Amino acid sequence: MIDHDDPAPTVAVVGGGAVGVTAAADLAARGATVTLYDRGDLGAESSGRAAGVLYDAYAEDVDAAIAARSMERFRAFGRSLPGFEFTPCPYVIAVREGDADADAVPAMVDRMRAHGRAVTLVDPETLADRFPIAADDLAVAAVAANAGLCDPGSYVAAVAARARREGVAVVTDAPVSLSRGDDGPAVRTRAPNGSRDASGRRDREFDAVVVAVGAHTAPVLADAGVDVPVIPYRVQALVSSLAYDGPTVYDATAGVYLRPHPTGLLAGDGTEPVAADPDAYDRTADDWFVDSTSATLRDRLADPPVGDGLPVGRAWAGLCTATPDGDPLVGPVADLDGVFVAAGWQGHGLMRAPAIGEHVADGVLASLSGDRGSDDPWIDAFDPGRFDGDETFEIAEGMTVERRDEA
Ligand SMILES: Cc1cc2nc3c(=O)[nH]c(=O)nc-3n(C[C@H](O)[C@H](O)[C@H](O)COP(=O)(O)OP(=O)(O)OC[C@H]3O[C@@H](n4cnc5c(N)ncnc54)[C@H](O)[C@@H]3O)c2cc1C
Repeated sequence: MIDHDDPAPTVAVVGGGAVGVTAAADLAARGATVTLYDRGDLGAESSGRAAGVLYDAYAEDVDAAIAARSMERFRAFGRSLPGFEFTPCPYVIAVREGDADADAVPAMVDRMRAHGRAVTLVDPETLADRFPIAADDLAVAAVAANAGLCDPGSYVAAVAARARREGVAVVTDAPVSLSRGDDGPAVRTRAPNGSRDASGRRDREFDAVVVAVGAHTAPVLADAGVDVPVIPYRVQALVSSLAYDGPTVYDATAGVYLRPHPTGLLAGDGTEPVAADPDAYDRTADDWFVDSTSATLRDRLADPPVGDGLPVGRAWAGLCTATPDGDPLVGPVADLDGVFVAAGWQGHGLMRAPAIGEHVADGVLASLSGDRGSDDPWIDAFDPGRFDGDETFEIAEGMTVERRDEA
């Protein structure tokens, strides 16, 4: 617990993706002395490989509130953070004829609207009139107005620059493990050249440690004796020079999304629903993903690619993280005093980073000051302690109508 005579609690944030940089900047803005560690470069893992699709179309109240706050911050960052641009772009959820999920869409939209989200049910004909989208085969569609796009790498870079301005010390190329100091949690890093101890490692104690290591969450916490069911899985994306100037579209039946991109169009998903090794997964896209995405684009675009091929500039794979109930783990780690975790975004970590970073900053500082009680800032549904850690479960991609509609 913090000494109130000591004005600045010390916090280590481990992991410099979208979530870690935001938490670090927000902690420092609230007066903490923050060191941000990354094993490589900032944004080099999932955040740097993301598609940049942002929206608030969530049917569950907590998710909707977080997404709403994130969208508010993305817009504000677009106005105030040098190097970061937020581009408004509606988000369309489309379900094809014959897909049983179509029946669930009206109730899902009602729930989104009940949480104040500007989502509207649109009949396919109207959709095709408004946007360059082929809608003949659609049963139903919904349009979310509070949505947009960004370049994910520029989000990390711009928020990291803000973190530095707030006084955050940023240490890259520094793989960290958790350890225990005399009075609180510590992180163990490789000491810089010339200052290594006999083992080549160095412990540094903090008042709190935030673990925001994405796909490495389970191994980093397991190393400290805590098991969490945060399972990495591969997803894929590609950029094509095919011209497209419409909204972001999620073809829920095909399981493919597409969005406009500065060089044409970006499309993705390609979920591989099996556990992936974060240190040894295949970072190149699979041929089946490129082929199936091309087929979906032919069905969905008003101006589809001509012939069989799709002009693909770049195609890649990255990792998302699944949890047994699809909700993230955000809050204190039981049995590791002073250690907090933020992970398990089920493919939605970038769009939630602005709100989650702020939530983590508020939660850590309230927890450190012992100021919890009835005002416990942590979200119950995200409590890391709700799992035993040894759960087995099926990995399901994060955007499905079924998952969005789960109560
Ligand atoms: C192809 C693709 C498309 C996606 N599209 C979207 C999208 O459009 N919208 C959206 O919201 N989400 C999207 N996602 C998901 C999104 O990328 C993630 O949910 C999000 O980036 C997670 O951020 P993070 O900060 O938790 O993790 P990461 O960005 O993975 O950051 C974790 C960091 O921790 C570091 N680290 C790991 N272990 C250690 C250690 N021991 N010591 C120090 N540092 C360590 C890593 O180097 C890394 O930089 C997509 C993902 C992929 C792969």
